[in-house]
Amino acid sequence: MAGSDPLVDIRGLNKHFGSNHVLRDIDFSVSAGEVVCVIGPSGSGKSTLLRCINLLEEPQGGTVVVNGEDLTDPDCDIDAARRHIGMVFQQFNLFPHHSALDNCVLALMTVLKKKRPEAERIAKANLERVGLAEKMDAYPGRLSGGQQQRVAIARALSMGPDLMLFDEPTSALDPELVGEVLAVMRRLADEGMTMIVVTHEIAFAREVADRVVFMDGGGIVEQGKPAQLLSDPREPRTRDFLKRVL
Ligand code: ADP
Ligand code: MG
Repeated sequence: MAGSDPLVDIRGLNKHFGSNHVLRDIDFSVSAGEVVCVIGPSGSGKSTLLRCINLLEEPQGGTVVVNGEDLTDPDCDIDAARRHIGMVFQQFNLFPHHSALDNCVLALMTVLKKKRPEAERIAKANLERVGLAEKMDAYPGRLSGGQQQRVAIARALSMGPDLMLFDEPTSALDPELVGEVLAVMRRLADEGMTMIVVTHEIAFAREVADRVVFMDGGGIVEQGKPAQLLSDPREPRTRDFLKRVL
């Protein structure tokens, strides 16, 4: 939202894995309600950037402020801060021995200390939100990849996040199942959810993103409105990448 403080504010972020300097002085901020798609070649640091936003990876330099809270401050209660950040991975990471409903209920009970009836009420509402009202009792093994990923989204939404991070949420899916997951994400975007989406789905980025960020070599090379960045990039590296993927 114009004029409001950014929901995510990253300054001078640096991350090394041994001698590999993976994120180089990244400045990146996201406003409440904004949908940002991150694109770029394999190994450019997209996943690491996303994982630094909820401190699944610990940066060696810089600050990561989410909702006014500095997650890189040693005094920050990182578990508490993470509850407000939903993450959806390429591999859905569902518990195979729990139903779709229980996959959503468990964290509500263990992390948010909800009683079973309230946890179920919240979980059911979110499974309905992703179009899986009929599949609540199904175990992941009986669901398609697209349905499993929608359960993973419902599970993240059940925690009431302020921000949703998606790391290539459709990359593990058979092509015919990609659309149903993107449709759910598009609906979330329309509802005003703040989202950072690492994706190879350029058409999705074009239609849904407020802003597209192109990363290469551990840095943000270029960012802008989808129509500008995807159709008329300024940087040769962006142009080369798009030529290869479009
Ligand atoms: P992308 O998501 O854009 O493909 P990543 O963020 O996964 O890129 O990786 C960026 C770089 O960091 C790559 O060189 C990768 O090999 C390295 N890297 C990622 N995760 C780890 C890790 N846990 N340990 C060591 N190196 C890693
Ligand atoms: Mg990645």
